[in-house]
Amino acid sequence: MNIIFGPVPSRRFGLSLGIDLSPGSKACNFDCLYCELSAAKPTDTIPNPPNVEEVIAETKKALAEHPDTEVITITANGEPTLYPNLNELITALQAIKDRRKLLILSNASTIDDPKIRQALAKLDIVKLSLDCATKRCFKRLDRPMDADKLNAIIAGMQEFRQIFSGMLVIEILVVRGINDTDAEFEALADVLKKIRPDRIDIGTIDRPPAYAVQPVPFARLSELASHLQGLPVHIVAKRPKATPQHFSREDILALLSRRPLTQEDIDTLLDAASKERLSRLVAEKRVHKERVGSVLFYKLGA
Ligand code: SF4
Repeated sequence: MNIIFGPVPSRRFGLSLGIDLSPGSKACNFDCLYCELSAAKPTDTIPNPPNVEEVIAETKKALAEHPDTEVITITANGEPTLYPNLNELITALQAIKDRRKLLILSNASTIDDPKIRQALAKLDIVKLSLDCATKRCFKRLDRPMDADKLNAIIAGMQEFRQIFSGMLVIEILVVRGINDTDAEFEALADVLKKIRPDRIDIGTIDRPPAYAVQPVPFARLSELASHLQGLPVHIVAKRPKATPQHFSREDILALLSRRPLTQEDIDTLLDAASKERLSRLVAEKRVHKERVGSVLFYKLGA
């Protein structure tokens, strides 16, 4: 059983060494239509999880072999917060991580549990999924063990934000015909404004999914993102080739008043002269740059 994988370069988080807490088989309390693993009945138990000492010994060995690792990512063939000794493991990882960041990739299903919130609050970066803000959509897309928990999960995210000073990233995976509606994104916008994540990653299917579902084109992701006014959205999807356009200073400020833009957005949208204008706005402190993980945002204000 391989507990450690990588390091792999992650454009979102940096050079990442992965820890798989369910190396034997998939163990997840969701059965998402888009899952990259095979379809499986949801469960809340990881069968034969590795013990903490084993995980720490393997992580130390891998870090010695790959000292340039930037991020240690806690993940699983499924949902890592189902690991029974999560708090103990996070404490032990903190002791060996040195200057590296600790990250977890979770489906958020357990964030309503105060013990999980306290354990995750010790991490540097927490990535939680939130594909839907309505129960019907959640049930159809993520196929959780308990769809009635959606409101408790959303409330748990809000409470987590109160105690977590690290980087909170919310990921929305968009599937054609399911959560790609304006209404779902309006509902998501309402809850995301309350959760106040540092970054929202919006993506779509890019690997073979567990069930026959389809991705959403980049242009539609972009339209959906426009519902998340004022929020730091990062669209994680292949961009179609586009010709950068002319933007005046006022156009740039109007664009940024809708929501912060990433460097990738700027490179796609603005021609060279417009980028010069943006640089001047940065020098004048009317626009500021902020890095969230590996993603650089341009936001209004100093
Ligand atoms: S939460 Fe992740 S591992 Fe679980 S079914 Fe969904 S995509 Fe797969």
